[in-house]
Amino acid sequence: MRHSDLRAIGVLCSGGDAPGMNAGVRAVTRAAIYRGIDVWGVLDGYNGLVEQRTEKLTARSVSGLLQRGGSLIGSGRCDAFLDGAVREACVAYLREQGIEGLVVLGGDGSLEGAMQLHRLGLPVAVVPATIDNDMLGTEITVGADTAVNTAMEAIDRLNETASAHSRAMIVEVMGRHCGYLAIQAGIAAGAELILTPERPVELGSIFEQMAEAVAQGKNRFVIVLAEGAQWHASELTQLINYADNPYDARFTILGYIQRGGSPSRFDRILATRMGVAAVEALLDGQSGVLAAWQRNGVELISGDELPPRADPWGASMAHVHRITAV
Ligand code: ADP
Repeated sequence: MRHSDLRAIGVLCSGGDAPGMNAGVRAVTRAAIYRGIDVWGVLDGYNGLVEQRTEKLTARSVSGLLQRGGSLIGSGRCDAFLDGAVREACVAYLREQGIEGLVVLGGDGSLEGAMQLHRLGLPVAVVPATIDNDMLGTEITVGADTAVNTAMEAIDRLNETASAHSRAMIVEVMGRHCGYLAIQAGIAAGAELILTPERPVELGSIFEQMAEAVAQGKNRFVIVLAEGAQWHASELTQLINYADNPYDARFTILGYIQRGGSPSRFDRILATRMGVAAVEALLDGQSGVLAAWQRNGVELISGDELPPRADPWGASMAHVHRITAV
């Protein structure tokens, strides 16, 4: 479809929410309106397509969104959308409404869903948005920077109380199968040990490191544990305490705290740039593209060129085909 043909697009947020999703929706809305295109917010992820719930967005209705966490138009998972016939009905609904393109903000599952719509002939562009930063093709996703900062601040506080009591403090952070959040927050907060799904360790080596820390005169031992690592926080705490270690262990699970909050400067700008790039891609007649962050800029890459979701995180990106520099 040529640029001048596009009259209305939809925008939706899907999967777990991430700080900066609102900033992305605002950017998509304003970039499209600036180009004379109507914008419809699809409510609660793919649920809004299945249940035909959309709401017209205006330049004013997205005012004040830059600084707000969560998602004004809702987000969520949608099992019904996994059915091919349901997806066909969604595309038919959009066509009936005169909605000729869609911007999806979400993680790798949402990207899969968007690619299915693209294969049914609906022009789709995706803004990668998840606090986990676990998507192939983009160096960073919207929401990860804010979540790392939130986790870092929480670990700073736990660090202080751990020091006062000479404790081992186990802090479980999110990230699903990806250790990014744990590594970034752990390094930034000066943790003694970071445990990730990518690199399992022996329990004995943790005990050895604790003994060394005592020998060095450390009055705390902070372990940042990714949720996908080999133990849960409570499990590791018990293992440490049963083994008569020098530090008495306690655990904290940061949980959904990491999803909320006002987005950082980085996430606001990232979401804005990616949102504008997604609209420009649709105007340019492209579809099935991811607005990816690569080498300090946004590039549109083809979703078809990305390895399947089952590929291990961190797989080579060498074969990712770059279509356009934005
Ligand atoms: P995220 O986007 O954060 O990774 P999910 O993996 O839960 O979150 O995916 C969000 C939604 O995307 C799912 O609830 C479903 O509606 C849709 N989705 C995920 N995988 C597929 C798929 N293979 N085909 C079609 N839709 C999918």
